[in-house]
Amino acid sequence: MSISNCIRSLLNIKDPNIIFSDNCVSQETVKGKTTHICKAILSVNTPPHCVHCGCINENHSIYKNGTKTVSIKLPNASNISTILRLKKPRFCCKKCNKGTIAETTCVKPNHSISTNTFHAAILESKSKRSVKDIAKSLNISHTTVNNWLKSINEDFVVSRLSLPEHLAFDEFRSVKSVKGKMSFIYMDADSGNVLDIVQNRQLGHLKSYFNTYPKEVRDKVKTITIDMYEPYIQLIKSCFHNAEIITDRFHIVQHLNRALNSTRVSVMNDTPDSKTKLKNYWKLILKDNLKLDSNDCHHYRCYKHLMSESMIVDDLLRVDKTFEETYWVHQRLTQAIRNKNMTSLLEILNDPPKNISIQMKKAIKTLKKYETSVSNAIKYPHSNGRIEGTNNLIKVIKRIAFGYRSFENFRTRVLLICNTMVRLEMKSTH
Ligand SMILES: [Zn+2]
Repeated sequence: MSISNCIRSLLNIKDPNIIFSDNCVSQETVKGKTTHICKAILSVNTPPHCVHCGCINENHSIYKNGTKTVSIKLPNASNISTILRLKKPRFCCKKCNKGTIAETTCVKPNHSISTNTFHAAILESKSKRSVKDIAKSLNISHTTVNNWLKSINEDFVVSRLSLPEHLAFDEFRSVKSVKGKMSFIYMDADSGNVLDIVQNRQLGHLKSYFNTYPKEVRDKVKTITIDMYEPYIQLIKSCFHNAEIITDRFHIVQHLNRALNSTRVSVMNDTPDSKTKLKNYWKLILKDNLKLDSNDCHHYRCYKHLMSESMIVDDLLRVDKTFEETYWVHQRLTQAIRNKNMTSLLEILNDPPKNISIQMKKAIKTLKKYETSVSNAIKYPHSNGRIEGTNNLIKVIKRIAFGYRSFENFRTRVLLICNTMVRLEMKSTH
C-alpha cells in the first residue's frame, strides 16, 4: 500500500482522488489546540462539460485555473484534532468565463466539517451522552450537532408498517418548551423499547396520531397496558379494536398505597399522641406484611424497648380500628395482585368490607369501575419490565438533554437511542 493509501485508510477517507504525498502530516496549534494538519491534493480530471453553460469540453475550452485550499474538520485521529488541508483544482470555462471548484465526497459542498464527523456525531447520539460532550469530543460546536439532529429528524421517520402485539402507554413530564406538562410515550410492553413519543397527550391529538397507522396494523395489537387515565380507554376503543386493556399493576398498587397513606394521615390528625409514630414508620405500613421482620429487634426512636418491624406495625394498627381494617384490606389486595390471585381480588372488589376508611372505599370503587382491565393485570404478564426501562431511559435522556428547548430534538434523541427510526426512502418504497 502506498503512503497515500495508508493515510487515507487511517483517516477513513473514501474518496480515492484525495492524494497524500510524503511528509504531508504536520502539527500546528489551532485555536490553542495541538492539531494534526494533513495536506493533500484533490486530483480530478477536467470536467467533461461546463456546469454553468453546459457546453462540452473540447480543445481545452475548459481549462485548469489554479487551486483553492480548504480546511476540512475530520474526526480526531488518536485523540488529537485533525484537519485535512485540501488543495482543490479550479476550472474555468472559456465560453461563459465562469469558474468551478472540484468537489470531493468527504465533505458536502460549502461545508467545512467532513461527512465522517457528521456520521460520528449521529453514532454518538445513539449513546447516552450529552450533546455538549459529543460536540466537544468531535471538536465542533453543540449548535452544529443540534442542527444535524434536526436534519435527520426530517429524513427519518417512525415506521408505520408494524406494531408489537403488546403495547404500553404512559406519559412523562416533558421538556420545557412544550405547552402541556405531560407528553405521551408508547412502547413495546415485552421489550420496553420506546416506539415513539408524542408531544401532546390529549385525546384528539392521539387519535389522529394513531390513525396514521393503517387499520390492519392497529388491529393486530392484542393488549395495551395503561394507567387509569380515562382518555386512553377511549383512544383504545376507537383506534385498537382487537386490543384488550390492561391496567398497569404498578399503578394499581400505587393507587392503593395512596389510599392507605391518606388514611394514615387522617388518623395522625385525629390522634396527636400517635402522630410521630405514624409519621416515622410509614414505610413499614406499606410493606408486605409477610415480609416484615419479626425476629431482629432494634432500637427505634419512638419506642423505649427493643422492637421488631412486625411489633411496630402491630402497635400502629392498635391506634385506630378503621385504620387496622383498611390496612388488612390493602394487604389482601396487594397480595392478590402480587400472587395473581383473581378470586381473592374479585371477592374484595365485589364486596368490599364495611369498616374501612372512606379513602380506601373510594379506591376500591375506582378499581371496580375498571374491573375488566384490572383483572387483566392478573391474567396477563405484561407491565413490570417496562416501568424500570422507560423511567430510566427518559430520566437519563432528560438529564443528558438538559437545556434542550426543542421537543423535536429531544424526540430524535430518544428514538435514535431506541433504534426506532427508519430512513424516509425505505418507508416510501413500500
Ligand atoms: Zn461555461
